[in-house]
Amino acid sequence: MFGSISIRSRLAFSFSVLLCLLIAVAAVSLQRFEGLTATTQRVVDYEVRRVFLAQRANQHAQAAAIGLLNLLQTPDREKRVPLYAAMDRQLADSDRAVGDLEKTLLTPDTLADIMRVVNLRQRYGELFQETVEIIELGGPLSARVHFERQTQMALNTLLNETLALASGQLQAMQAELEQLSLAATNARRLVIALAVSALLLGGVLAWTVARSIVQPVREAVSVAQTIASGDYKKEVPHGGRDEIGALLRALTVMRDSIGSREERILRLAYVDSLTGLSNRTHFLERFAALPEGSTGAVVVLNIDRFAPINSALGHDVGDRLLREISVRLDRATEKTNVIARLWGDEFAFLLEGADRATAVAFVEQILSVLGAPTVLDGQRLDLGATLGFVFYPQNGTDAPTLLRRADLAMLVAKRRYERFACGSALDDEPAHEQLSLIGEMREALARREFVVHYQPKLNIAQNRICGAEALIRWQHPEKGLISPMRFIPFAEQTGFIREITPWLLGHVIGHAAQWQRTGMAVVASVNLSTRDLLNRDLVPEIRSMLAQSGLPADQLCLEITESALLDEPELALKHLNELSAHGLKLSIDDYGTGQASLAYVKTLPVNELKIDRAFIAEVDSTPKNAAIVRSTILLCRELGLSVVAEGAETSAELAWLTGSGCDVVQGYGIAKPMPLSEFLPWVSRFNRQV
Ligand code: C2E
Ligand code: MG
Ligand code: MG
Repeated sequence: MFGSISIRSRLAFSFSVLLCLLIAVAAVSLQRFEGLTATTQRVVDYEVRRVFLAQRANQHAQAAAIGLLNLLQTPDREKRVPLYAAMDRQLADSDRAVGDLEKTLLTPDTLADIMRVVNLRQRYGELFQETVEIIELGGPLSARVHFERQTQMALNTLLNETLALASGQLQAMQAELEQLSLAATNARRLVIALAVSALLLGGVLAWTVARSIVQPVREAVSVAQTIASGDYKKEVPHGGRDEIGALLRALTVMRDSIGSREERILRLAYVDSLTGLSNRTHFLERFAALPEGSTGAVVVLNIDRFAPINSALGHDVGDRLLREISVRLDRATEKTNVIARLWGDEFAFLLEGADRATAVAFVEQILSVLGAPTVLDGQRLDLGATLGFVFYPQNGTDAPTLLRRADLAMLVAKRRYERFACGSALDDEPAHEQLSLIGEMREALARREFVVHYQPKLNIAQNRICGAEALIRWQHPEKGLISPMRFIPFAEQTGFIREITPWLLGHVIGHAAQWQRTGMAVVASVNLSTRDLLNRDLVPEIRSMLAQSGLPADQLCLEITESALLDEPELALKHLNELSAHGLKLSIDDYGTGQASLAYVKTLPVNELKIDRAFIAEVDSTPKNAAIVRSTILLCRELGLSVVAEGAETSAELAWLTGSGCDVVQGYGIAKPMPLSEFLPWVSRFNRQV
């Protein structure tokens, strides 16, 4: 009803009405009060006064009559003289009272009564005078006769009239007072009635106005609460043209803009802006929202050689490539599954309900989808990817663990130059233990829990130990000796390897310098990872360590894998050239498992090739392995490189290698990696035997 009137007008109207009511009550009360006062005043001024004056005239007339009687009884003239004076005073007072009576405001009724009293008083005065004159002229006796016959009668009539007048006035006064009390009662009733109706009207008005404000405000509050709870669909009531209506309209605008902003924020929070795919956060949340007891697979995909493509063709091309890849991956992924870009060139998939066969089929499908070449800016690019996958709940129950393990599987696949690897096949270590290992790594370095073991390298021709590979281990206070395979991949992933490698280099260079001083001609080998190779401080650090220890540079060999060169080949190559120029020996580790081995052999300033254990195992009985190893030995001979057979375990393998002209052999067949305290006596014993 009030919808179209503004709250301000409503309040102004209500208060005005209340104010008018108050003024009306006050005015009526005042007017009634004034009426009563005027009536009272009139009663006091005239009626009471008239009664008083009539009584007074009466008294004085009586007193004069008494004086006259005294006079009549006083024969001695001399004695009558003072009586005259008193009599005259009484008569004068009586005259004044009657005169005053005449002056009061007279009603017609009262006027007739008073005029009669005045006339009677006049008549009495004349007869009184006559009586006095008769006393003086005819003597008291004749005067007495006159008095009794005429004056006394006139006096009695006057007295009766004045008494009648006084009692008439008293009656009139009583009537007026009664009327006054009635009027006062009526006035009180009227004022009370007015006040009560003002109160009721005010109350009704206040209630109606308050209701007209409170109800829509409540609606607005409920709308605001709905918006606050995140429901932007609920219809906001339209409201009138008043302030609440304006508020509701503002709430509608606010709801819409919050809704669209939240949608944008959600997009920013959950969507990868480059590819439009879900991001890591969304992936984690989708996983967390899976019903309890769900099963399935988490797959991680990494684009091969993305970093060199990115740096060679520019980030713009890199971005477009990632978009192209995303489109392909998205098309190949069923809508029920989740695809996300985790970062850079790494993608993740959540395959709900997938078992091993489904996961492998999916991974192969993805590989074939990516296998088709892409043309960007007229340039043909052959894409490749490596994938790792794990299963939940077997390999982990939370997304970060599963992603990490799938990532690890992917890294292992890369290391092995396979297209994909299943995480559950890697090791059986519970995920939380791996996590705690990562957390403890930093402290382990401070607590000096890392130790170096050395594995001897045998020069077959000389039958002497010519070198030793430094292999790190973690002497964990509770878990015992931990293999580098369980923590080095994490150290590489988290960048902690940048702290481990200098620590290891410091120790190994120190040990090797000591060997050098004691005349033990054993070249120490240290493994470097990708991050080490890209570390700009690496070369100066090694140089200063060598300078400090006094170890000749050619007594230190650095082992690198081909995969270590994939990320930023130019920078890695620059560092390797600098190290080689400084005199250090370089070795290609795990040779044969890479894809572009020969190209690296050609371009890298290497001194040594280490044939991977995969080819050395059963080389004596596997013709294919034998062919590969034999041709590699030939190749090294041609290129002037030293060849190391890694992982020779059996005497048959050792014999085969010796027969095939392999230079150096390293493996359990010679000795397992051992701590320095065992290694030193072992080497001197071995070399002395010969
Ligand atoms: P790698 O550089 O290829 O080292 C050789 C690995 O093969 C060592 O394992 C060694 O113990 C093992 N091995 C040697 N001969 C035999 C054999 O006859 N049979 C078998 N089954 N294994 C043999 P380890 O010490 O567990 O190291 C594994 C890998 O961890 C290394 O492979 C290397 O890539 C990495 N690693 C070890 N220490 C370091 C380090 O200090 N820095 C870096 N960056 N990586 C390291
Ligand atoms: Mg090695
Ligand atoms: Mg190796």
